Amino acid sequence: MTYLDHAATTPLREVARQAWLEASSYLNPGGQYASGRAARRALEEAREQIAELLDCDRVEVIFTASGTEADNLAVRGLFAASDSRRIVCSPIEHPAVLETVRALDATLDWLPVGPDGVVSDTAPLAAPAAVACCMWANNETGAIQPIERIIQAAGDTPVHVDAVQVIGHLPVSFRESGATTLAASAHKFGGPRGVGLLLARRSPAPRAVLTGGGQERGLRPGTVDVAGAVATAAALAEACEEMFDERVRLAALRDALRERILATVDNVLVHTPADSLPGHLFLSFPGAEGDSLIMLFDSLGIECSTGSACAHGVNRASEALLAQGVSERDARSALRFTLGRTTTPEDIDAVTAHVAQVVERARLAGMA
Ligand code: PLP
Repeated sequence: MTYLDHAATTPLREVARQAWLEASSYLNPGGQYASGRAARRALEEAREQIAELLDCDRVEVIFTASGTEADNLAVRGLFAASDSRRIVCSPIEHPAVLETVRALDATLDWLPVGPDGVVSDTAPLAAPAAVACCMWANNETGAIQPIERIIQAAGDTPVHVDAVQVIGHLPVSFRESGATTLAASAHKFGGPRGVGLLLARRSPAPRAVLTGGGQERGLRPGTVDVAGAVATAAALAEACEEMFDERVRLAALRDALRERILATVDNVLVHTPADSLPGHLFLSFPGAEGDSLIMLFDSLGIECSTGSACAHGVNRASEALLAQGVSERDARSALRFTLGRTTTPEDIDAVTAHVAQVVERARLAGMA
């Protein structure tokens, strides 16, 4: 099987599995007795390790149940903490942010995006807002966003950065970034699914939007999953250790895949810009339905996606592609290959061997 959907999720690292198993018998870290203290110690060691790896203070690390939850707690919490009803947001955000800002009773102003999928103008940030949202890199195109420029232009407006696709893949310093809050997700860097990270400065801090027992600075109440936290720290440590070499290796494989596809198939649109995450390749094959391409590849044992898995089998045009000016029809012909830790040159060979025939068949089937 050739798995090329690492941006959706990537296999659990062995170090994370071992760490999880060893920590799985810890009891409630809130317990005021020996077993509780032992669980607390393991949890705090994991927090400390993550803080070191992401260059932030220990208290700024909040364990959540997903990247989606971290995005929600940050965006909703910063909005609730402000008197302003205005939000500035990039239109290429993951639904975890996009649907959240849409659900709030806010005046929304959008950051413009160029044809390369990168935020092109910070003008909407000149006026104050409750929160500004811009992801560090896009989950579909892999395009890296000008976070530094955006945070600078935002001035006193708190900025939430969805770094779910970046953490564990590119170096991140929360301190140096100047972001107010940042979201990450363990299963994107070889940690367990169902563990997210919210990094949140002490000031300005999001207001708590969940109520409960006050764990995790009151921002994410609920008994913390110690084994999940310990496994996340182990996965992140290994991901950061391998980061430089992996970046070079994956970019070379991804570039080879792109060149071979362009050499064998006519009329291909490349949506991934030069400055992108190393493992991302997002393309359109005009005239072919994305869903048909996926099913044909799947029948050959090759797993890839149309983009965000959150579209749940409904082939809607990617909002990110529409925002960067791709036509609806071409956006529906999009296919995303994302390479990761387990990707080998043989995986690239497998796609190369079949891509011409798959696209030809999908184009013959036509578009709905
Ligand atoms: N943000 C981005 C950019 C993502 O790619 C994803 C997952 O695909 C999420 C948020 C949501 O993360 P999770 O799956 O942990 O809820």
